Amino acid sequence: MAKTVFEKIIDRELPSKILFEDEKCIVIEDIAPKAPVHVLVIPKKPIKMLSKATADDQELLGHLMMIAKQISEKLNVQDAFNIVINNGAEAGQTVFHLHIHLLAGRDFSDLFPT
Ligand code: AMP
Repeated sequence: MAKTVFEKIIDRELPSKILFEDEKCIVIEDIAPKAPVHVLVIPKKPIKMLSKATADDQELLGHLMMIAKQISEKLNVQDAFNIVINNGAEAGQTVFHLHIHLLAGRDFSDLFPT
């Protein structure tokens, strides 16, 4: 299987602005930001999409969420951010390596009108 762009970034075959890295994940700035803050939390394990995750991935998925929380604090947006996971091409997924979008500084409330 060809490497995804995120595997290439993890393997330092492609440049990226890396904000955080540990043994399980990497956090990078999105190359085409959709909000003033737009970073991606990416597991090193190349899970294709959330719907392909298994019970074995439970701890990893929790870890990614906790890292998203920590990064929101580091970027000082902890009081107002959105988390998005696009799952599948029809839902807008373009890179088939699971990732969490952390977005802030833009009003997305029109997507979820109250
Ligand atoms: P998705 O559409 O949910 O699969 O999101 C993929 C995201 O990856 C998009 O927001 C892209 O802008 C971003 N992206 C694609 N290539 C790169 C790259 N080389 N470095 C950083 N972000 C990227």
